[in-house]
Amino acid sequence: MSKAYDVVVIGAGPAGYVGAIRAAQLGMSVACVDNWVNHDGRRALGGTCLNAGCIPSKALLESSELYHRARHELATHGIQVGEVSMDVAQMQKRKSQITRTLTGGIEMLFKGNKIEWLQGRGTVLGSGKVQVTPLDEGEAYTVDADNIIIASGSEPVNLDIAPFDGDRVVDSWGALEFDKVPKRLGVIGAGIIGVELGSVWSRLGAETVLLEAQDDFLALADQQIAKEAWKQFKKQGLDVRLGARVLGAKAQKRSVKVEYSQGEDKHSETFDRLIVCVGRRPNTEDLFSSDSGLELDDKGFVNVDERFRTNLPRVYAVGDVIGGPMLAHKGSEEGSAVAELIAGESAEVNYLTVPSVIYTAPEIAWVGKTEEQLKAEGADYRTGTFPFSANGRAKALEQAAGMVKMLADARTDRILGVHMVGPYVSELIAEMVLAMEFGASSEDVARTIHAHPTLSETVHEAALSVDGRAIHGVNRRR
Ligand code: FAD
Ligand code: NAD
Repeated sequence: MSKAYDVVVIGAGPAGYVGAIRAAQLGMSVACVDNWVNHDGRRALGGTCLNAGCIPSKALLESSELYHRARHELATHGIQVGEVSMDVAQMQKRKSQITRTLTGGIEMLFKGNKIEWLQGRGTVLGSGKVQVTPLDEGEAYTVDADNIIIASGSEPVNLDIAPFDGDRVVDSWGALEFDKVPKRLGVIGAGIIGVELGSVWSRLGAETVLLEAQDDFLALADQQIAKEAWKQFKKQGLDVRLGARVLGAKAQKRSVKVEYSQGEDKHSETFDRLIVCVGRRPNTEDLFSSDSGLELDDKGFVNVDERFRTNLPRVYAVGDVIGGPMLAHKGSEEGSAVAELIAGESAEVNYLTVPSVIYTAPEIAWVGKTEEQLKAEGADYRTGTFPFSANGRAKALEQAAGMVKMLADARTDRILGVHMVGPYVSELIAEMVLAMEFGASSEDVARTIHAHPTLSETVHEAALSVDGRAIHGVNRRR
């Protein structure tokens, strides 16, 4: 007889492992099937985010930023350090130790919550049954589940004209594992991964060229913020070419040649390595048997309703595999909510307040609507802005580039969106997420005391500026 569980989760990324833990907390028996295997053969929980995404990329961003600042900034403080050099192997070792510790932590959480980790590929056979094909040679077996949560995540889009070869042409995972700094690095796609990983290797000395198909830089972000970021990245030497249509990439023994067009002109560039990061697609290969009847949408994402229910009874789906912003915290929130719904509690995810962060230097962060979106909707709004250059703490940090921009409803003053580029805005955005979650007005933030001297005063001043009364900046006449 096959083993039976209240909940079987397929996928142990941030959506799946959080869903599994929350279901166990609510008293259900839980198993989580996951097939992640790292490049060194080690199996680990945590999915893309912990093994090949959020965490390793942030570890490398930190190391490369420290190196960059040691070379270019310490002298400004009067610190003389002599010649600064980079030990890439040590940087990679530190990164691996961090991911190992965190993925090991999830293993401990699974044990502590009595969640069974079934190592293998999970296939939904229909409602109530999941087949597990073990990662080793063992026979496939079936487990029974009162409820199934699909959280199989996503994988990088592989372009036919520039296919991954695991050596010269790599995806983001490959780019997190370079053992030396490429002399010339090409990046196809100047989206979030492009600018984050492009920054890492550029700071370490790679001459980095990003080829972006769209005419706007970071088209999803508020364009005033994106333009400010563009200015800063340019100063750092990131060479971003917009409106670039890649025609093909050909790997040679020691290099890769890329041909692309910009308008009428054709160009060709030769790189040591090429990262292709043009988006991710849902992981649905072998996820369900052909007779299960599970419905996907026209882009291949699992179709769900607002309660994360698929078309099959008691089969749910959360995380990257259902579409929407491909963000770990969005998936985790859905994982937690679906467990609560299964337990009969009420839960929902507020997609209007999902923050986005890009961990470059300066960082970029936002929540809510952009000015472009508000204009397109014909909304009546007021804008407040404040630059980090007028903030004492940012000056002391030697990181005074960037600004905060707040958009508020002209009639009700309710905050509609907040956009930032600057130091530690990944942390500052949390206050604005909370404010929007509570339906705050710009006046609420303007009347909230912010400690001095802190970066958060920039948010305070932007809120004051919505009403034309920023103290440390000259306000536009209204
Ligand atoms: P995943 O994390 O992809 O996990 C899915 C898991 O399911 C994997 O372990 C996979 O092996 C397993 N699986 C798939 N199919 C099966 C099957 N049939 N049977 C068993 N197991 C299966 N997001 C952020 O919010 N912040 C960041 O800073 C950030 N940085 C990123 C950096 C990079 C380089 C990348 C690539 C992504 C980054 N992301 C970031 C995005 C983030 O990683 C994803 O949004 C998040 O991991 C999605 O979580 P998930 O649980 O839906 O899927
Ligand atoms: P993305 O959608 O952010 O960017 C892809 C970029 O590639 C876009 O700008 C697109 O216009 C461009 N593009 C597409 N096809 C192209 C082509 N043929 N030639 C040139 N450019 C082309 O996707 P990504 O950077 O691959 O990241 C994938 C997902 O991972 C994102 O959805 C993101 O949410 C997530 N992620 C998040 C973080 C974070 O939260 N800090 C970090 C990394 C990744």
